[in-house]
Amino acid sequence: PGQLWVVATPIGNLDDLTLRAAEVLRRVTVIAAEDTRHSAPLLARVGSAAATVALHEYNEREQCERLVERMRQGEDVALISDAGTPLVSDPGFRLVRAARAAGLVVSPVPGACAAIAALSVAGLPSDRFVFEGFLPAKPAGRRERLQLLAAETRTLIFYESSHRIAESLADMAAVFGPAREGVLARELTKRFETILAEPLGALAERVATDADQRRGEFVVLVGGAHGEDADRVLAEGRRVFATLTSELP
Ligand code: SAM
Repeated sequence: PGQLWVVATPIGNLDDLTLRAAEVLRRVTVIAAEDTRHSAPLLARVGSAAATVALHEYNEREQCERLVERMRQGEDVALISDAGTPLVSDPGFRLVRAARAAGLVVSPVPGACAAIAALSVAGLPSDRFVFEGFLPAKPAGRRERLQLLAAETRTLIFYESSHRIAESLADMAAVFGPAREGVLARELTKRFETILAEPLGALAERVATDADQRRGEFVVLVGGAHGEDADRVLAEGRRVFATLTSELP
């Protein structure tokens, strides 16, 4: 049988495609891409003549079966997303799972990932970290999620879009406290790459008042809760727990 290659592509700078990724994209017969039109220039650049099929949230289930069948018949398939590493806040989970369940070989061709690129330059503790992907879009859900993370001692990593970056930073400053360390990594590997390391309050203020800082793509990193922060959140948690248990029969 053939196999599945999970191939990372650049997050902005096309030169970040690895030599092995280019080679695999040329060698396979089928490329499953999140958006085939978006990936066309990259595939042209590496000289790949593979057929492309769209694999996104809405057709992943049915597309999976067809792709697994093609691999069973001997074809090699590459999975790519619009940017960075597939499955990291991107489609592909079902396909990888289905391929593994079918006993097919699944190999990574590692490369760019915005979360890891941001972590590597943030200057926040990187020995232990938590990737949270995108926060819920609605304010209530977002604040609730942040609340659940308030006592987390590991470095937190979030993805955010230009539409919500200002609101999200304001909520983070409110829930985690304005003094908590933050890093905003914008447009990594691109022309307007900017990395701002400031307390969350200052960061939220800067982004609220400077429209240029709201353009592009963002990774937000937040230092873990320490000392007083963690104590305050733990005390609050114990208080809530005590109230709840006192009300139980
Ligand atoms: N699979 C991708 C990866 O490996 O990083 C992530 C895909 S996710 C749909 C897109 C989000 O990743 C953006 O909204 C942004 O939060 C982050 N991102 C992608 N490229 C970025 C870049 N060049 N600079 C900063 N953040 C980026």
